[in-house]
Amino acid sequence: MPELRKDPIVGRWVIIATDRAKRPVAPKAEPPPPATVCPFCAGNEVYTPHEILAYRERGTKADEPGWRVRVVPNKFPALQIEGDLQKRGDGIYDKMNGIGAHEVILECPFHETSMANLTEDNIREILWVYRDRLVDLKKDPRLVYGMVFKNVGTVAGASLEHSHSQLIVTPIVPINVLEEMNGALEFFGYRGRCIYCDMIHQELATEKRIVLATPNFVSFCPYASRFPFETENIQKNEVDELGTVLRTILLKLETALEKPSYNYIIHTAPFDTQNLPHYHWHMEIIPRLTRVAGFEWGTGFYINPVPPEQAAQFLQETEVDPSAKPKR
Ligand SMILES: [Zn+2]
Ligand SMILES: [Zn+2]
Ligand SMILES: [Zn+2]
Repeated sequence: MPELRKDPIVGRWVIIATDRAKRPVAPKAEPPPPATVCPFCAGNEVYTPHEILAYRERGTKADEPGWRVRVVPNKFPALQIEGDLQKRGDGIYDKMNGIGAHEVILECPFHETSMANLTEDNIREILWVYRDRLVDLKKDPRLVYGMVFKNVGTVAGASLEHSHSQLIVTPIVPINVLEEMNGALEFFGYRGRCIYCDMIHQELATEKRIVLATPNFVSFCPYASRFPFETENIQKNEVDELGTVLRTILLKLETALEKPSYNYIIHTAPFDTQNLPHYHWHMEIIPRLTRVAGFEWGTGFYINPVPPEQAAQFLQETEVDPSAKPKR
């Protein structure tokens, strides 16, 4: 059973996941040798745990081919779904059982390593799957926060190439989310305005950091980007266009930066909050072009060699067609 332990000074929770110790302890920088059998391809369902959800063709059965997007439990889960939280003290420390969900979303049945090379419709279905899983896991009273994320490339922590993303649902609100929400609340408290809405207005007005603006989404390089070409998508209200927006941004990044390793994360409010006047769900896309080293670890400062204005201009000028048929 994994354990959650709280750092008593900064309040950060850490997952002590003993089962995962079986995984390699000193990851190498070079890519892993290509597996002879890809466990995420259709036809190889036997290599994954039983599916939790799949969008599949009529008449096809669970754990068999015929799916378009498929969700399975992570084979090496950081958190475990069965059991009680058992929140308890340990002297001056706090801990609880590592209860939570850790799922993998297999984004396509064929062997494709780049999400940018999936159709807009395919990407839309992936987004619906994220939503379905979050709605389902929200019902679990033990769990309070869900985050979807994606690791692409070994530098970004991916161990399998087949296009996939992950979902981790936790019994505590992660510190990075708390920091965002507290910062937004503080701004709201003394200005009476939503920082995200203010950011959208100013970014649209100045245009300097905008990569893409569609009726419901704004994609821009944040003013204080930590990493070169870091991009955020913030929703204004609807989600219809996100499939197109996401494919466009990923195509731009792949074209402009020659298929970089990257992470993306989707930040939403904790499960028990709704319609916060000061917070918006958003997506952060972080190409891994620089290494996080001693200085960053020690200070929380990041050194970004590319001004976000320059990154945004470069991405804006990189022309791509999100409706183009993927080459395969
Ligand atoms: Zn595959
Ligand atoms: Zn707002
Ligand atoms: Zn965020």
